[in-house]
Amino acid sequence: MTTTDQRINLLGVESNSLVRQVGAWGNKPFRAKQLLRWVHQRGIADFDQMTDLAKGFRSTLTENCTLQTPPVITQKVSTDGTRKWLFDVGNNNAVETVFIPEDDRGTLCISSQAGCTVACRFCSTGHQGFNRNLTTAEIVGQLWQARHDIMQDMPAARLAAAGEGATSAATHEQDLRVISNVVMMGMGEPLLNYDQLLPALQLMLDDNAYGLSRRRVTVSTSGVVPFMDRLAHDCPVALAVSLHAPNDALRDQLVPLNRKYPLAELIAACNRYLERAPRDFITFEYVMLDGVNDSDEHARQLVEITRQVKCKLNLIPFNPFPESGLGRSSNARIRQFSSLLVDQGVITTVRKTRGEDIDAACGQLAGDVKDRTRISERMQAFKSIPITEISS
Ligand code: SAH
Ligand code: SF4
Repeated sequence: MTTTDQRINLLGVESNSLVRQVGAWGNKPFRAKQLLRWVHQRGIADFDQMTDLAKGFRSTLTENCTLQTPPVITQKVSTDGTRKWLFDVGNNNAVETVFIPEDDRGTLCISSQAGCTVACRFCSTGHQGFNRNLTTAEIVGQLWQARHDIMQDMPAARLAAAGEGATSAATHEQDLRVISNVVMMGMGEPLLNYDQLLPALQLMLDDNAYGLSRRRVTVSTSGVVPFMDRLAHDCPVALAVSLHAPNDALRDQLVPLNRKYPLAELIAACNRYLERAPRDFITFEYVMLDGVNDSDEHARQLVEITRQVKCKLNLIPFNPFPESGLGRSSNARIRQFSSLLVDQGVITTVRKTRGEDIDAACGQLAGDVKDRTRISERMQAFKSIPITEISS
């Protein structure tokens, strides 16, 4: 359980632990459900406003609990509606959260660590080193705050849509779907922060909290094999695997974790994962690096890899940063590469660019805080342009 100044930060407490905690205070289990709804669905941070809880219980909560997100340093909204938050997680560290609205969904990209130990060559977070794991409350806090801020900017129209006499709490619940998808693709390697990640995922899926379906929550990993197995067992959400190279020699260079868990082991873990979720597929992410992993031969090797797992392939145009010494493959090369794959029946998409106007500001922040992540740039839009959807 997460504590702040000795009090329990309720943003970090999933349902089972909350039932135990309210039980210890002499309350029935359904009180935990009510509390979850107030906190996560209605977004209420003031215990006195939780009117269907007994007064005594409310004062116990006020005394023992808090509800705190990491402080927001900046919030920016792009002309295309993409939003970005920079959260202060202490010790001069910041993490980024990005919201990408689309016609039929809204995707929130969340960070799991301040920095990252995996140190991938092409990743600015990796270059920054590792500071610390985020707590469950800090992970869920990004979601809570994002929803809160998005909601604040749309009350009038939404209230009208909810019908006459709708309360703002009811509207708030209705607008849970504003964030319809969550991707753990921000800063950090989520599976190396497993103990804090798991309760956060459980809250995302909990019907009394964010109520997202299993397939609308994606964990992205560089391939931490033992924790892929644990996730398959504990909470088999959608899985994205950062592949980036089609052979061990190159992947050892680009994703150093490959030296510990080479491709054969990674592929085997992907297949074990799918045994727990047989109707799902793995999304392989592949960042397109000019002259490094983007040749026709690489494409042919990639076809062989993708034949071994039920998967889709997402090609990500590389977002350069000065220290990397790497460049982005040209659009023509990306097209050629993807058509080689498509011709072989691989379901391939290319990630598209959004929110560029606020990324510039993100770069400017680098001097003040350790914000060299440019997540919104690398994520840009989780929505991909489908090249084709040919079943393999
Ligand atoms: N650590 C996890 C999740 C965070 S990174 C992982 O590696 O999967 C999310 C995605 O952004 C990964 O696929 C990662 O490889 C990609 N990425 C990192 N740096 C990038 C860059 N400079 N340009 C484009 N994509 C990048
Ligand atoms: Fe860490 Fe992912 Fe970046 Fe690699 S790509 S350094 S695993 S955040």
